[in-house]
Amino acid sequence: MPTYNSMNYIVLDLEWNQSPRGKEGENPKIPFEIVEIGAIKLNEHREIIDSFSRLIKPVVYKELHHIIKELTGFTMTELNQGDDFKTAANDFIRWCGEDYKFCTWGSLDITELFRNMKYHHIKLPAPPVFYYDLQKVFNIVYENGDRTTRSLEYAVDYLKIETDDNFHRAYYDALYTAYVFQKLELDIIHKYYSIDYFQVPKTKDDEINLVFDTYSKYVSMAFNNKSDAMKDKEVTSTICYKCGRKAKKKIRWFSDNSKVYYSLSSCPEHGLIEGKIKMRKISGERYFIIKILSLTDEKGAAQLKDRQLEIRAKRRRKRQAGK
Ligand SMILES: [Zn+2]
Repeated sequence: MPTYNSMNYIVLDLEWNQSPRGKEGENPKIPFEIVEIGAIKLNEHREIIDSFSRLIKPVVYKELHHIIKELTGFTMTELNQGDDFKTAANDFIRWCGEDYKFCTWGSLDITELFRNMKYHHIKLPAPPVFYYDLQKVFNIVYENGDRTTRSLEYAVDYLKIETDDNFHRAYYDALYTAYVFQKLELDIIHKYYSIDYFQVPKTKDDEINLVFDTYSKYVSMAFNNKSDAMKDKEVTSTICYKCGRKAKKKIRWFSDNSKVYYSLSSCPEHGLIEGKIKMRKISGERYFIIKILSLTDEKGAAQLKDRQLEIRAKRRRKRQAGK
């Protein structure tokens, strides 16, 4: 009988340390150094089939930041007995198997895992890496998708999951996240998958275009600076994600802090579309962008218009004050 590898879910949680003296003494290549990996493996029916837990001896920050110490209860004596990161990460990736999807609470763990792997010259999985951010899904299901981000403790409590109240250790956080995962509707989890932004698309061909029920998402390649990004036709285009037609701009892209840009356009068939571009810094002046287009209504359009007027008024006041 041939062996058949079905897809597993890897619920991942990491604990990390940071410079004990804050920004001073921080290595910008690795602001957060992973000191513990915890993970739970579930099969396609979301049954727990295995677990992984490993302590890692830090080599960049050899003292614990006081908040990390308080939160996790780690001691340096304990961590110094851990594996080196390379061994732990390679064992972990091997343990994940051939066909799997990561599940996490929030988007930080995947980014920091990859950042630490890059720092230690470990090969990253081929991009784009899709994963399930269960904090985002929880937010969509129970908080109507607004900007509230809930802690894992909150979600566990909300879903009446029993715990031993030992949060902030990787294995237990992964286990509790796995319990939350089992309670959320799989269709919704699958529908609202996330993409890792640590590996930015290298070329135009690698750029990412995704269509969800209520919005579309575009992730661009890197640009040398913000204004180059805003000159790119694909960055600024407003194609209706429902029908693929060009939506006519009613308000051109505008911004108040040049980190986020907004626009309003209109599809003859699907109505008003709000555009949002987020600038994400890679290094120096280099940026990539994430563009979200979502259907909106007259109320949403009025809010955008107000925001634009506000920004204009602010600029005018600044200019007059400068005279
Ligand atoms: Zn349309």
